Amino acid sequence: MTTSIRVCVIPGDDAAPEAMQASLRVLDCLDLPIDWDYVPSGRDLAELCTAEREALVHAQIDASDTVLFGATNGTTPGARYLRWGKLTFANVRPIQWRPGFRSPLREAEEIDYVIVRENLEDMYVGVMGEAKDLLKAGLADVRSRLPVGAEDGRFAAKIITRPGTEQVTRFACELALQRKAKLTVSAKTNMLPATDRWFCEIAREIAQDYAGLEYEEFIVDDMAHRLVIRPQDIDVLLLPNLYGDVLSDLGAGTIGGLGLAPSGCYGNEFAYFESAHGTAPDIAGMGIINPTATLLSAAMMLRYLDLNTAADRLNNAIGNVYLSGSVLTPDQGGDAGTENFADAVIGAL
Ligand code: ATP
Repeated sequence: MTTSIRVCVIPGDDAAPEAMQASLRVLDCLDLPIDWDYVPSGRDLAELCTAEREALVHAQIDASDTVLFGATNGTTPGARYLRWGKLTFANVRPIQWRPGFRSPLREAEEIDYVIVRENLEDMYVGVMGEAKDLLKAGLADVRSRLPVGAEDGRFAAKIITRPGTEQVTRFACELALQRKAKLTVSAKTNMLPATDRWFCEIAREIAQDYAGLEYEEFIVDDMAHRLVIRPQDIDVLLLPNLYGDVLSDLGAGTIGGLGLAPSGCYGNEFAYFESAHGTAPDIAGMGIINPTATLLSAAMMLRYLDLNTAADRLNNAIGNVYLSGSVLTPDQGGDAGTENFADAVIGAL
């Protein structure tokens, strides 16, 4: 069959390829109109020098409509290119409890919100250096709170831009209008007026363009508390990059753990999909990594590709496995391996 959709699969490092391999077996059963293009795993790529690795992976990414990405510890290249090369500015991380997920909360039933994390700016711009250079450049003086020991200090710059904030806010507003029409925005507004208060001011201004959208703001420490105490109140939560990274792991914890949290990174012309978790190096080679986050990320990818029936089938099959609760990986209290779990999803399909 000739197909027009090309998906680049990047298995990643440590335990990530185990989750990817199991997930691909499941996807194979969906009879998808996709040409898969496989990047070698980090272990196999390790024989190449960095420049060769990057050239190989970037070319495969460029030739694809989208990418399904396992996590990387740095051995597999591509993560940086997928974000800053492809300008994927919105990292979408759904936090949804499903029956059977092992949540530590007593009342997890109504947890169903989406974190939209700005993906390119904030403290991830990579501007770092010696604190004394800030003094030399006149960027810090006695009025700043730079500690006396700044002679032996380092800094990392936090950079927020108006276009970047406007763009990701519009994305979050549009997403909220497709859901329960509520946008929550959070940052450290009280301590960081130049960056974080400004981020919220811009978001508030942009949100006014969206009729019918409910808007609220919280300081980020209060937000962390609310995500544990009243997660049911959230619909779409917009956060600058670093807080989004941290709070999405917190959110994953409230529904039952990192093995359950998918994600997708969207730009204007490209998107890619990866679990929210890292490479789980402590369980690499054990065959027990939970592939649910990778599978749910694949379901997000199928929706992006307009393969909605397949996305629904995959979501329902995963839901049914958790509902029955008989085949679960150790992080969910079971004793099934990664491949056993995949077999159960295939059975449910
Ligand atoms: P990164 O900084 O790359 O996001 P991390 O430091 O957050 O990575 P993870 O790799 O996400 O670390 O792992 C954190 C813990 O969660 C580890 O104990 C790991 O084994 C566990 N974990 C992560 N993903 C899964 C999964 N899919 N199944 C089971 N356990 C997981």
